[in-house]
Amino acid sequence: MIYLSLGSNRGNRLSFLQQAVDLLKKRCLKNMTWSIILETECILPDGAPSEWNKPFLNMVVAGVSDLSPFFLLRELKQIEQELGRPEHYERWSPRVIDLDILLWDDLVLNNPSLTIPHPELDRRPFLGHLLTMMGVERKSHIPANCFLRSFTLFPRFVGIVNITPDSFSDGGLYNTADKAIKQALNLAANGASIIEIGAQSTRPGSVLQTPDEEYGKLEPVLDGLKNFMEKEEITVSVDTFWPEVIQKILSRYSVKWINDVRGSLDDRTLQYIARKNCHFVAMHSLGIPPQKDRLLPNDPSPVSSLIEWAQKMIGRLLSCGFEKSSIIIDPGIGFGKSAYQNIHILRTLIRLKSMDIKILIGHSRKSFIEAFSLEEAKMRDIETIAISDFLKNKVDFLRVHNVADHRRFFVAQQAIVNIG
Ligand code: AMP
Repeated sequence: MIYLSLGSNRGNRLSFLQQAVDLLKKRCLKNMTWSIILETECILPDGAPSEWNKPFLNMVVAGVSDLSPFFLLRELKQIEQELGRPEHYERWSPRVIDLDILLWDDLVLNNPSLTIPHPELDRRPFLGHLLTMMGVERKSHIPANCFLRSFTLFPRFVGIVNITPDSFSDGGLYNTADKAIKQALNLAANGASIIEIGAQSTRPGSVLQTPDEEYGKLEPVLDGLKNFMEKEEITVSVDTFWPEVIQKILSRYSVKWINDVRGSLDDRTLQYIARKNCHFVAMHSLGIPPQKDRLLPNDPSPVSSLIEWAQKMIGRLLSCGFEKSSIIIDPGIGFGKSAYQNIHILRTLIRLKSMDIKILIGHSRKSFIEAFSLEEAKMRDIETIAISDFLKNKVDFLRVHNVADHRRFFVAQQAIVNIG
């Protein structure tokens, strides 16, 4: 069995680990399994510049390979460079990705360009800990102060920041720019791959904001996050359906996703978003704000209607210049569906996979949960996590309010299950 370590302490660290695992799976390793992710202090030599002192995210993957050790090393260097690590770098400087070969069965190799087991293995206690957790017999005790925080690669979370007074479960909590910025950074620190910011409440009966009102709320929050977006430390999605708001945002900020819940954007705006290399989330709805009596039919089944809608939408987005990989389809749980239909859609969601497109689900705290729980909206995180667990291998992104509790749940599960 081959064990590799993956580390990142620059930019959107989680995203670099996710991309590296995807590439390793495609090109280098078969039967891959992976560990949880540990955040650790940076190990630096005396006198290193203080700006290099950035915590790492580390993980270990295991698998088998047809490549020889030297060819695998070459592939690892290739992946490092593709993800943006320069060919030449100062030895201890921050890096977007670092891929090392830790162990290769019982092989002992001492070559100028490749040493196996990895020479730093015993100086990095968290690696021994992760290897032991993956079943390699090494240590009998958990090293002291081994890590700062733990994460998992999957599922990928979109964390929600509503800068609204009246959203259904957190309205008013992040209603000032300061609170919203703090919450966005908090969600990112807890493992949200994407931070979604919205200033428009879409709950039934809500009053729509004008483009100027909406932009007025978004602007100070995006200003506060500008630096983080430019350094690519966080990835921001903006939830808006006004063309003029989209134009302003994409001309001023490094926002990487637009989330359109209304489906009313014109081709020119869609083409503009595509030219900006932005991802686009197309959500299914039958009108915003939703109306209680405007529902999908039951015949054909709600999922069949969703697939038909999504296929048309994907065709239109491709003709507007989007790459397939930039399109994300959201079935719009809670929008134009009854509680029973929402549950039916979640149960049969796997059918959407046949479209071979990224799927996002926003089920967090929504009112279909009233079918089996009496908790008020803001108390529905346990129900939400249970459903996230059911959905985790069926979709690409889970949009949730409480990323911290999702992180704890999925870390515990991955630590015990330990399979990819
Ligand atoms: P790093 O700074 O960790 O990317 O390592 C830089 C160099 O370490 C590589 O160019 C390799 O030639 C060398 N090296 C030696 N042993 C290993 C190993 N087990 N895994 C990865 N790189 C190694």
